[in-house]
This record gives sequence, structure tokens and C-alpha cells, in this order.
Amino acid sequence: MTEVANILNAVYNALSAAFGPQNWWPADGPEEMIIGAVLTQNTTWKNVEKALANLRDNNLLTFAAIADTPLAELEALIRPSGYFRQKSQRLKDLAEAIVNAGGLAKLENLATAKLRKWLLKQKGIGPETADSILLYAFARPVFVIDAYTLRIGKRHKWLAESADYAKAQKLFSQNLPAEVRLFNEFHALLVQIGKNFCRPRNPRCCDCPLSQFSRPLITGKTSL
Ligand code: SF4
Repeated sequence: MTEVANILNAVYNALSAAFGPQNWWPADGPEEMIIGAVLTQNTTWKNVEKALANLRDNNLLTFAAIADTPLAELEALIRPSGYFRQKSQRLKDLAEAIVNAGGLAKLENLATAKLRKWLLKQKGIGPETADSILLYAFARPVFVIDAYTLRIGKRHKWLAESADYAKAQKLFSQNLPAEVRLFNEFHALLVQIGKNFCRPRNPRCCDCPLSQFSRPLITGKTSL
């Protein structure tokens, strides 16, 4: 195992011991997961839950149903998630694209790289959303990077200051076994740290489960 792999392994164990299983993604099936992934952009999960509840109450948690629903109706239902005009249009476009592609069962047959490409072609789906969908809806071993992961990685010098999404993803992907369960938990655990400890200002390092890793542990030219 390389030094970086050892560190990531130790980080995972520390997080796991601190927080236990995260059981992500909080959704009842892949359709609800994907809908939630679109709605969660730029808002809190609490707001997403309200929008999902509205869709559920109206039997609209399937892509076939969303594709058949007038935009104005969708807008009213997902309003709690914010940016409701943009999100309802994106959700409807995505639902139509999935229905036209033959549904999730058909997309499931695509290799991961092709499926990622297909997802990234859909309006409003960037790398983080696409990779979340790949990992949590399609159970593909793809490591999801988000702002929390970038911040934590840069503060600990696992990542260079200039590292972007692709470089951060490479760091985790190349130094961890490509296991869906591991990637699922690791991402969810890093979100816990980002939300509760590694804030943009005044990080709570003193009581953070990663405080033992707070000094640059990777020396020399090890950042990607
Ligand atoms: S120890 Fe500090 S810098 Fe490291 S993850 Fe925790 S809060 Fe962030």
C-alpha cells in the first residue's frame, strides 16, 4: 500500500469509528435518488425532503410520471427546494431523456464511462451530480467529490491548492479499492465532517475526528 493509500485508509477508519454507518443515499429506490440529486443542488436536504414529499403525495416520484406532468404543476410541487423554475425544467428534461432512452433499466446496461458521459450531457448535471447518481443510483464504484472533500483534502495537504474535481477524484480512486460500499460510506462521512467541523471559517479542528491528521502528513511532491 502506498503512503497516500495508508493515510486515506486511516482517515476512513477514523471517520467510521466516529460516526458509524451513514446508510446513504436517503431515498426509496434509484428514481427517488436521482430526483433528489437534482433537487439538492444549492439547497439543504431539509428543503429537498419537503419537495420530495410533495412529489410523493402526488405519485410523481417516477420519471414516467414527471415526463407527463405539466411544468407549472411541477414548479408548484418542488418550490420548497428553491430555484424551482430551473429545477422543474431540468427535472422534466431529465425525465423525458430517461424515458426516451428506454428507462433506467436500459441505462443500467451502459458501461460506467458511457453512462457518465450520457448523464453529463443532460442539462444541469455536472460531475458531482453525475457521480452521485452513478454511485448511489447505479451502484458503480465512482468516488464523488464535493466542496467539503476539496476543502478537507486541501487543508490536510492531500490535495494541492489548485486541485480540481478531476484531480481530487483521481486521488481517491487511485488509492482506494474500487468498492461501491467503501465509496458510498467515505463520501457520506466526509460530508459529516464538512458540515459539522470543517467549516469554511473557524474550522472546529480541536474536537474533529480528523484532528490527528491535521498536520501535513504527506510530505514532498505527493499532492496530485
Ligand atoms: S481537523 Fe480541522 S482542517 Fe481537518 S477536517 Fe477537521 S476541521 Fe477540517
